[in-house]
Amino acid sequence: MQNKTIRLHDLQFTPFINEGKIITAIDQIANRLNKDLADKNPLFIGVLNGAFMFASEVLKRFDYDCEVSFVKLASYKGTETTGEVKELIGVDRELSGRTVVVLEDIVDTGNTVEILEKIILKKGCSSFKIATLFYKPEVYTKEIHIDYIGIEIPNTFIVGYGLDYNGLGRNLTEVYQLKLDNMTNLVLFGPPGAGKGTQAEVLKQKYDLVHISTGDVFRYNMKNATELGTLAKSYIDKGQLVPDEVTINMLNAEVDKNPNAKGFIFDGFPRTETQADSLAKLLASKGAGISAMVALEVEDEVLVQRLLERGKTSGRPDDAEEVVIRNRIKVYYDETAILKNYYQKQDKYFGVDGVGEIDDITERLSNVIDKL
Ligand code: AMP
Repeated sequence: MQNKTIRLHDLQFTPFINEGKIITAIDQIANRLNKDLADKNPLFIGVLNGAFMFASEVLKRFDYDCEVSFVKLASYKGTETTGEVKELIGVDRELSGRTVVVLEDIVDTGNTVEILEKIILKKGCSSFKIATLFYKPEVYTKEIHIDYIGIEIPNTFIVGYGLDYNGLGRNLTEVYQLKLDNMTNLVLFGPPGAGKGTQAEVLKQKYDLVHISTGDVFRYNMKNATELGTLAKSYIDKGQLVPDEVTINMLNAEVDKNPNAKGFIFDGFPRTETQADSLAKLLASKGAGISAMVALEVEDEVLVQRLLERGKTSGRPDDAEEVVIRNRIKVYYDETAILKNYYQKQDKYFGVDGVGEIDDITERLSNVIDKL
């Protein structure tokens, strides 16, 4: 998969679904069609223009007698659905008694399938089925059952594999999604005591970003004795990680509280690969992604001394005892440090020397961020 943003007309799009995943989804639909319709001589009706590629791939995989025709309807203008569907090329076949399978590239609100069902049922077919390559469950508003679904996607605008933006993009063999804005999303990384919190405070002002520290959110919840706080406390006091499911739900809720953010500084998250995957998914649903992981690199013994020093005033029980501090550092190396590799593979890892004056370290981080 190309790791590149592309431009179509005035908009930018980022890679979203690779060809392999699309082919697998089509294979699965075709297997089911072969099983269900072997002796039915179905009439496949592709919905132009978007479904031409999907229709072609399905037909190539259908092993029994069948026919194909196309209809052309229009409901999209630019990237917004108009809610109005016009019939441009109608159904040109005798449908009475036939098994009809509509082939759609994408079902979102369901306006198109609703109109098609009406038109086709009026012509007396004996069985009406819908197969769609992409489906947006969040925005589908109709009762009509979608029989065959390739890939469910969140409510973002996509192009490629037959789908277009004002005419362009249909020839792409992979699917891209609209890049909604130029969010800057940073993962501020490093072991406990590396100075993430201190630097985040400066960077959030400088770059106008929302700072989310999962540790701070947990501590706030513990202080207020919420259910989440009580649950997290037993792990935090021992210097262990709070389970992924709890942490991920909490992080998602924090992000959702800031729908207009220009970007985020994630501090203390992700700490596991599962968390990194879920963060990628969450940002993808907003047409965004992680811009960079910037890591503060500091030696272990310096960390221990810093945290013991901080423990004198921070009031944090997990800063007070050396064994807990050492356990947090160990947990970092055992469970979290692998994320360096995770982001390195995406060319998004930037290590910075985390020892020195606060201002100097900010400058080192800014040098990375300014080049993103
Ligand atoms: P921190 O303030 O980032 O050092 O976090 C303090 C503690 O909160 C950690 O030692 C963990 O117990 C818990 N915690 C914070 N962030 C996460 C996370 N992303 N996953 C699991 N546990 C976390």
